[in-house]
Amino acid sequence: MAANDRLEGNDGIPQDQRLPPVRNSNIFRLALVFMIMVITTFLCVEGWRAWRDYEHAYAAAKDSATNLARATAQHAEDAIRQVDILTDALAERVEGDGLENMNVPRIHALMVQQSKIMPQLHGLFIYDAKGRWVVTDKDITPETANNADRDYFMYHREHSDRHVRIGEVVQSRSTGELIIPISRRLDNPDGSFAGVLLGTIKVSYFVDYYGDFKIDDRGALVLAMRNGTILVRRPFMAAVVGQSLSESEIFKRYLPASSEGVAEVKAVVDGTHRLYAYRALNSYPLVVEAGLSKESFVGPWRHDLLKSGLILLVLVASLAGFGFIVLSQLRRRMEIEAELRLAHVAVRDMALTDSLTGLGNRRRLDIALAAEIARARRQRYSLALIMLDIDYFKRFNDRYGHTAGDECLRVVARAIATSLKRPADLACRYGGEEFLVILPDTDAEGAAQVAADILSAIRELKLEHLDNPSGIVTASAGVASCVPTTSQTTAVGMIKAADAYLYAAKHAGRNQWRGEAAKPIKATAFQQT
Ligand code: GH3
Ligand code: MG
Ligand code: MG
Repeated sequence: MAANDRLEGNDGIPQDQRLPPVRNSNIFRLALVFMIMVITTFLCVEGWRAWRDYEHAYAAAKDSATNLARATAQHAEDAIRQVDILTDALAERVEGDGLENMNVPRIHALMVQQSKIMPQLHGLFIYDAKGRWVVTDKDITPETANNADRDYFMYHREHSDRHVRIGEVVQSRSTGELIIPISRRLDNPDGSFAGVLLGTIKVSYFVDYYGDFKIDDRGALVLAMRNGTILVRRPFMAAVVGQSLSESEIFKRYLPASSEGVAEVKAVVDGTHRLYAYRALNSYPLVVEAGLSKESFVGPWRHDLLKSGLILLVLVASLAGFGFIVLSQLRRRMEIEAELRLAHVAVRDMALTDSLTGLGNRRRLDIALAAEIARARRQRYSLALIMLDIDYFKRFNDRYGHTAGDECLRVVARAIATSLKRPADLACRYGGEEFLVILPDTDAEGAAQVAADILSAIRELKLEHLDNPSGIVTASAGVASCVPTTSQTTAVGMIKAADAYLYAAKHAGRNQWRGEAAKPIKATAFQQT
């Protein structure tokens, strides 16, 4: 364990020969983030594109509906205004002549002529104060016909206003067709009720016109009275005519606020969701609505979205798949690299470790000592070297056997390693029963102290050695130290110096250390000769 500590503290490997630091996990994370970013960007761009397409489709539908509403409103206004003007002119003439005195054949001829010019016109009628038919544009006027029960007739009889009145759709008594009555009151010169002048517009005239527009199957066009009563609708169903839209959102919420606009609502007639453009006519109390079903513009958009979404899905899936392969390869490479790194470290340690003692071997010593000398020279500090040799070890082997000798070497090595306190200190087996300890940044006194500690630690082991005068295993040490200032200081020089002190220690009786601190020696002893 102590030997390993030394390995970690100072492995003796110069900085430039170490393995490069591990950066793979960063690359892996970078690749992963890049992949996620690419996929997110794709999704964002596609999402934005889909949103923009929807906005475009919505805006286009809004424009179409608005244009439709404008065209149908204009059409209705024109059709009614013509009848309005005509009935106004006729009323003036009839009132001027008086109902009794008017020239019936001439008025009839006039009516026939106008009917022919105006395609929307179903008929022109003049009723007297009792509702009897006085003159019409028809060739035959039924003697018994009476319209006093009609809504418009009763209205004009009760109200003296002179405005044209647009009534709800009724079925013509003359032709059976559905018609919109446009009526006005006729007065006697004294202002009393003289009768009613009626112009009727064919519902089919609007139905045909609305049929010409190219709108989707579920689209709708509606002409309604301001109170919500439906006059005409596409798709046309007789049952819908006369129904009220007064409870619809457009009539309840939107029309009171603005006479024209666009709103997305659910139709009361058929429950379809539509984008409606609505518009109140300028001159008459009528409203038109042009509705495009939401499906008509959302459908194609959704179809496009599905198509591009599918392509995007394939793209993202391929990208993710590709990314997965690349990332797993990268991960595998990282694992292999980590294994190689471990193997490399193991091999390196093996190549630098003494197999018997676990201390650094001779190779490691050479590398570390050269590096430490260079470092001490750069940083101008003192470097010390202790050379240790077990006393009378040959005799130990001879008495206790080679195996016991090996075990003794192991135990002594552990005692040496345990005696070292600084992480930078390094103990190596120099060869046989000789050990070298490198002590960076240590002067002669410090090194002498470490040497004394080591020798004492070996003695403390109390390993029996009956052929040693001490009776136990002891060792001798030589301590060399210097501040390498010139390139003259070399590893060999330092080892030689330590060896010289070791020899001196042996010569002085063993089980002791010798060095500069005890007995100064010449500086030349450090230099290689
Ligand atoms: P001194 O006190 O003068 O150092 O006497 P010494 O006997 O220790 O000196 P010497 O250098 O003559 O003897 C070294 C002996 O160490 C020789 C050899 O038998 C023994 N030796 C060297 N390497 C090993 C080894 O790896 N294992 C064992 N068991 N013995 C070794
Ligand atoms: Mg020896
Ligand atoms: Mg010896």
